[in-house]
Amino acid sequence: MDLSRRSFLKLAGTTAAAATLAGVGLRKASASPSEPLRIKFTKEVHTTCTYCGVGCGIICNVRDGVIVNAEGDPDHPINEGTLCSKGASIFNMSYIFDEKGKPRLNPNRLTKVLYRAPGASDYEAVEWDWALEEIAKRIKDTRDRTLVETVDVGGRQVTVNRTNAINWLGSAWCTGEENYLFHKMVRAMGVINVDHCARL
Ligand code: SF4
Repeated sequence: MDLSRRSFLKLAGTTAAAATLAGVGLRKASASPSEPLRIKFTKEVHTTCTYCGVGCGIICNVRDGVIVNAEGDPDHPINEGTLCSKGASIFNMSYIFDEKGKPRLNPNRLTKVLYRAPGASDYEAVEWDWALEEIAKRIKDTRDRTLVETVDVGGRQVTVNRTNAINWLGSAWCTGEENYLFHKMVRAMGVINVDHCARL
């Protein structure tokens, strides 16, 4: 067969179009028309991926207070709908699907605070109220015990109001705004050792 450059390109284009249509046909044939759309009648909740400091946007679909789907937000300027493998599995942090395809609480999810007392080898489950009270009490005690109000600089007393005994680590599980507020709070207490996994 004698092919000119022009007719070769036309033939190649027709073949590619036919292959694409065949692909569409195959996908259509494999999808069940009676299969309900998983996100039908759900409310969209926009959130930020909790895994790392990139801060990808995620849309969660919630029905009756239960997340039934989570995927990248196409309108988010950071990820434009994409998610890495960790972010793509974020749904499973809370829920898994049972054998009937219904979401149920992930049995591996921690729902209680685990506390290991000084010197103990095991963790024990404690209530949130007790844990928050205890954390606040220990931070206050440590801060009050270790606060340095002034330092001597060349014979002159300079006010510093700082403690070296507390280190505050921000979290990619929090939004930028939450980390900003944490930062303000601990600076007000005199904490000078502040860091974050993404160096925010
Ligand atoms: S999806 Fe991946 S890259 Fe994006 S914030 Fe989550 S962990 Fe980071």
